[in-house]
Amino acid sequence: MESEREHRNCPACHGQDARHIGAKGGFEIFVCRSCSSIFTDRVPENDEQEDYDGYYSEANLSVPPFIRTRLREIIGGFESYRKTNRILDIGFGAGTLLETALELGWEVWGLEVSKPAVDQALAKGLNVFHGSIQESDYQMHFFDVVTASEILEHLPEPEADLKEIVRILRPGGLFWGTTPSARSISFRLLGLDWSVLSPPEHIQLYSRDGAKLMLRNAGFGEIRFKTYGVNPAEIKNHYSKRGGDKNEFSRVCSAYELNQSLTQSRARRLVKDVLNEVLNISHFGDSLKIFAETK
Ligand SMILES: [Zn+2]
Repeated sequence: MESEREHRNCPACHGQDARHIGAKGGFEIFVCRSCSSIFTDRVPENDEQEDYDGYYSEANLSVPPFIRTRLREIIGGFESYRKTNRILDIGFGAGTLLETALELGWEVWGLEVSKPAVDQALAKGLNVFHGSIQESDYQMHFFDVVTASEILEHLPEPEADLKEIVRILRPGGLFWGTTPSARSISFRLLGLDWSVLSPPEHIQLYSRDGAKLMLRNAGFGEIRFKTYGVNPAEIKNHYSKRGGDKNEFSRVCSAYELNQSLTQSRARRLVKDVLNEVLNISHFGDSLKIFAETK
């Protein structure tokens, strides 16, 4: 009977055939039979959409120092794309990527749906737009690089948004994004209990195959992925208190703490690098890192 349940097409590959795996947060959850992406039966109605104005508070608009170090490395990796010297961060949140890019000599633009985050960025003198990708109106071929960290899993129309990103990137420009991976070890172990599977906030998690098709359909040329990172604390917590209440805050904190303790010493950093390499080769990491170039 499960194949008779109504659901939208797979947001990644447009596939119509999906396996029902249960319900969460008032949504039915499906796994695409052709690309293995995970998605909700429908996109949220206006009145059940995530409250982005409440999403960022003073506490989560401040950022631990190791994130700045990591961002310098990430933005350093964009150097070979620097021609117009313009970079856009979609969903800039605390604005740390924008500030770091500015320090590294880029001209920065930011886009964000959360009003408090926009207000904070404006107070810092950053060049930002309040609204969605579709509401923005940047010039064609304007940017060298567009970034979107943990955004694609929220979007009701991800492919249309990616088409707009292709339009505003110059030919040979780079889209860099991160998003949770549908084929992660955490989903395999935790299933629907994985805290990242969280409608109406996250309405789809992509597999590599699904993300690749979506990026291709949007018009990108060369596409590369890395999968990295797991949150052992959540897996441990799941098995130690099955059915216990796990909240988002503790998940974010434990991921931060793990990352921080792994960034502190050289030996630990080596362990982390090796772990991430294993997760990349096996494709089992919790997070998918996307590098997509325009033609
Ligand atoms: Zn699919």
